Amino acid sequence: MSHPSANAGSSSQDDTPRDGNPGFADDFSTLSVHAGEARQKPGDSITDPIFCASTYTFVNTQSVIDYIEQNQAREEYGRYGNPGERVVERKLASLEGAEDAVLYSSGMAAMVGLLMSKLNACDEVIFFDECYHRSREFCTKHLSRFGVVTRQVRACDYEAMEAAINPHTKLLISESPTNPHMSCVDLERFAQIGREYKVETLLDATLATPYNMRPITYGVDYVLHSATKYLGGHNDLLAGCVCGAKDKLEPVRKLRGIMGSINGPQNVYLLARGLKTFELRMQRHNENGQRVAEFLESHPRIERVLYPGLPSHPYHEIARETMRGFGGLITFLVKDADWRETASIVDAVKIPRIAPSLGGVESLIEQPLVMSYYQCTPEERREYGIPDNMIRLSCGIENTGDLIADLAQALKA
Ligand SMILES: *Cc1c(COP(=O)(O)O)cnc(C)c1O
Repeated sequence: MSHPSANAGSSSQDDTPRDGNPGFADDFSTLSVHAGEARQKPGDSITDPIFCASTYTFVNTQSVIDYIEQNQAREEYGRYGNPGERVVERKLASLEGAEDAVLYSSGMAAMVGLLMSKLNACDEVIFFDECYHRSREFCTKHLSRFGVVTRQVRACDYEAMEAAINPHTKLLISESPTNPHMSCVDLERFAQIGREYKVETLLDATLATPYNMRPITYGVDYVLHSATKYLGGHNDLLAGCVCGAKDKLEPVRKLRGIMGSINGPQNVYLLARGLKTFELRMQRHNENGQRVAEFLESHPRIERVLYPGLPSHPYHEIARETMRGFGGLITFLVKDADWRETASIVDAVKIPRIAPSLGGVESLIEQPLVMSYYQCTPEERREYGIPDNMIRLSCGIENTGDLIADLAQALKA
């Protein structure tokens, strides 16, 4: 079956740069609405149908043999994927400017799936240390049981990363921006280290999204997203994906077929639906993030705001070079506040809801000390850079003025 719009994104990789940034397609929203979909769909429906099928039928024995011998593109059994999932994979690959994308049931399933398919006993991975705590936990607690060695170096310390590379090194891993410190990776340099030492690179770009950043254009090998966040965008689903070259993702897809960490048909429908408004949502997330960060930075009760769109941010220049906007996530420190006083601000806001996660239409707020690091020792929290007075705010798509007024009243309380 040929999908006329399925390749709509293949040219986006060499599109003219916008705002001096490489790789941003002007047709982004056209792609997020149409890419990956057949123009005429079953039942003449404008939307892709939800196929509730655990298995797929063959007309006769010869068609089974043809499918196997000719490697035909059709469905076989539900654990290997479903038609809706393939639509979303093509859409995401096109948005990312990648050849292919493999969809998973969560961002962590994508991380585990990629690492399990790429690493062997005695291989080594090098991490920038500011990273999603479960990614770190999987490497240090679980990959270690299979003889894989994890080395952590300080985020954005490229010399330390180079120094940690040895003949066993198989993968360099980073996030950008990092969570919750919002450090931004010099993608040119990160990809260059990979090329120079012939080590593959993986970037978790969940916080940036393909709207704000296109790591593939810099030569990063694998781009990972928790689609639970901005891509789904409505706080109503979990999903994840890895984007990259088709041949490199082949073994990753095969292992996913064994792990069974795929999405059910209803879930991929929700994701496809969320993606239709992706650019519109990102524009508002970017605007809310920027304006709320500026408001917080100017507030006398705030000690420090970590947001790449602020000139005060240590990675502002790198962010400006590599990103189109800076997203909705803001981390800030309350001046001279202990953990209780900080909690009282979290409790006083009326619009953002107290919850983990980010990137959805509803604003969310949390105190990392409590939400993610409560069971850590003070020494561990110091090591991970999580002070008691830190708050993480994910700006949704609510009215900007309403969000600022709400934070102003919470800070006055
Ligand atoms: C949420 C998140 C993940 C994990 O994704 P899930 O969909 O929750 O499994 C990984 N990396 C980053 C940066 C995240 O924010």
